[in-house]
Amino acid sequence: MATRIFLRGAITKRTVLFPPFLRSSISSSRNGSTLVVAEHENGTIKSASLSALLAAASLPDKDSSVSLLLAGSGPSLHEAASHAASSHPSISQVLVADSEAFKNPLAEPWAKLVHLVQQRGDYSHIIAASSSFGKNVMPRLAALLDVSPVTDVTGISDSHTFVRPIYAGNALSTVRYTGASPCILTIRSTSFPVSQKSVDSKSDKASISQVDLSTFNEDLDKSRFVSQTSRDDEGPDLGSARVVVTGGRALKSAEKFKLIEDLAKKLGAAVGATRAAVDAGFVANDLQIGQTGKIVAPELYLAFGVSGAIQHLAGMRDSKVIVAVNNDADAPIFQVADYGLVGDLFEVIPELLKKLPEKK
Ligand SMILES: Cc1cc2nc3c(=O)[nH]c(=O)nc-3n(C[C@H](O)[C@H](O)[C@H](O)COP(=O)(O)OP(=O)(O)OC[C@H]3O[C@@H](n4cnc5c(N)ncnc54)[C@H](O)[C@@H]3O)c2cc1C
Repeated sequence: MATRIFLRGAITKRTVLFPPFLRSSISSSRNGSTLVVAEHENGTIKSASLSALLAAASLPDKDSSVSLLLAGSGPSLHEAASHAASSHPSISQVLVADSEAFKNPLAEPWAKLVHLVQQRGDYSHIIAASSSFGKNVMPRLAALLDVSPVTDVTGISDSHTFVRPIYAGNALSTVRYTGASPCILTIRSTSFPVSQKSVDSKSDKASISQVDLSTFNEDLDKSRFVSQTSRDDEGPDLGSARVVVTGGRALKSAEKFKLIEDLAKKLGAAVGATRAAVDAGFVANDLQIGQTGKIVAPELYLAFGVSGAIQHLAGMRDSKVIVAVNNDADAPIFQVADYGLVGDLFEVIPELLKKLPEKK
């Protein structure tokens, strides 16, 4: 595998070779077909999975076909299949696995399902979003198939050459996959943005087929679903929100973090948090943005009491406009901010809340 690293400012090149056993059978020509492993919710395909679909469609082979795999149980699965079938011209078929085994997002049965579908379909590429779900399922699938996944892809140069960030997003590396087939990818949805124009443009529907699960052997011993919780205040999804309001350790408590939530509500924004705020118990960890949290690239990112540690920047530096409020003029967040205000967030946010109109 050859790796090129682009550092911001200077450009550095580095070559890394895959061990010989991985430089094996696959040729660089693309033979065929891609499977997109998709997530769905309330009868529609999740935005991150639509991004995975756009990534699949951008693989350079005009003769290839794209299949989309959905699993779950109940009517919403079939609604989602119908949504998927008309969501993009590149989809040739939607595969539906309807079983109680996929009712909950457990990685083990999902990985086994994709493995089964791969054995029958012999896809050249298998793609999923780099969501918590994708990050959970795809490495297990790669282990079952004995291949090495290429994770967090942000760009596709050709069918086996991909761009991905390294060193917490400070460098981009171009990697060439020379391992065995299939090529397994997780993609960063922020790099394959979904617009109304890029989806819902298909007039005829792709075919929908049921996956034959008669040979599927559900192994219930290894993991068991316990519970799932979600926040009551349904704001926009953090991964795809146009505006994100983030609070850091400076908020001091869960009660005071409500200021961030109130502001987000007024702006119709998603709430984000630093790891320090999550570790201090102000908010749940699914709001964490950064290297070990979610990656976001909204049109507007508002950071309150966030120092701008490199691990946090890794999750938000691609935001289009960054606004930072911090009482320390030397805080590193100001180095990436488009607009900065040196001030006390406990004064600034109440003032903003007073001046902003109510969201209709
Ligand atoms: C392996 C690893 C992975 C990590 N992953 C992540 C990650 O995914 N995401 C992440 O966020 N972090 C991550 N971290 C932690 C990261 O290094 C920082 O510790 C963290 O981001 C700091 O959070 P913070 O900015 O809220 O807190 P601090 O660094 O404590 O900064 C608080 C800021 O608030 C300002 N402030 C204080 N009071 C006020 C006030 N009244 N008004 C305005 N400003 C005020 C201060 O000047 C300061 O700049 C990771 C660390 C490691 C080692």
